[in-house]
Amino acid sequence: MELSSSKVVATAMGLLPEGIPAPQTGRCAFCGIDIHQGDLYTKFSVGPGFMDTVSLAAKGSGMTCGHCTPLMGASALISTARGVYSPAGVVPFAKWADIGTALREPPEPPFVMLYATANSQHMAWRAKVNLSRELFYVRVGLRDLKIRRETLLSAVPACERIGTYMGIEATAKSIAHPFASLSSDLKEVSHSLLRAKGKSHAIEEAYDELPEDFALLHSLTLGETWGLRFLLSPNAGTTTH
Ligand SMILES: [Zn+2]
Repeated sequence: MELSSSKVVATAMGLLPEGIPAPQTGRCAFCGIDIHQGDLYTKFSVGPGFMDTVSLAAKGSGMTCGHCTPLMGASALISTARGVYSPAGVVPFAKWADIGTALREPPEPPFVMLYATANSQHMAWRAKVNLSRELFYVRVGLRDLKIRRETLLSAVPACERIGTYMGIEATAKSIAHPFASLSSDLKEVSHSLLRAKGKSHAIEEAYDELPEDFALLHSLTLGETWGLRFLLSPNAGTTTH
């Protein structure tokens, strides 16, 4: 593997590889990238509190690549908690408005999207490297969520049509939509459940009136309903939770 999430993230942040020249070839235990003889590396080591062994790309390898090494410190864990990382640099991905913008217009690939849901969560080395702006993954906490960009964008007006027909009023922050709950960190079990009724029509009536919009809603991935949390609330621009 010549490209890894850590390499994309570290390069976007302007972090140079750290370590000593490798005496032989190997693989990075964390991100799985190939380490060639002479590449900078450090010895693999984790503290007793390390809980993410299951995510290691090359379990049993004694090597950490030069890209992963600068990402392991406490301050690097904080600065890689939430962001979009690509050769163009780092784009903010914490405020709802920023997330909405990045989901609508991801950077040119390769890019990595990270959204931590806990403090000191290891994010950078185990995310997917995205090679397409049309189908990509966001690392949300411990999950890799799939998003089809066109589908996500089409779902916004579909939600608004259903919400408006049902008589669910828009608010200062959100456009009309039929969801009872959308969770930004996916910690609410009610995430993506629909309301039973609005002021004008019940959901069954909306279903008869707008079958294509419902078909689209029912086809959405978990990642796409997560993305709707931000796209349906375009004016919630200042909050980070
Ligand atoms: Zn690595």
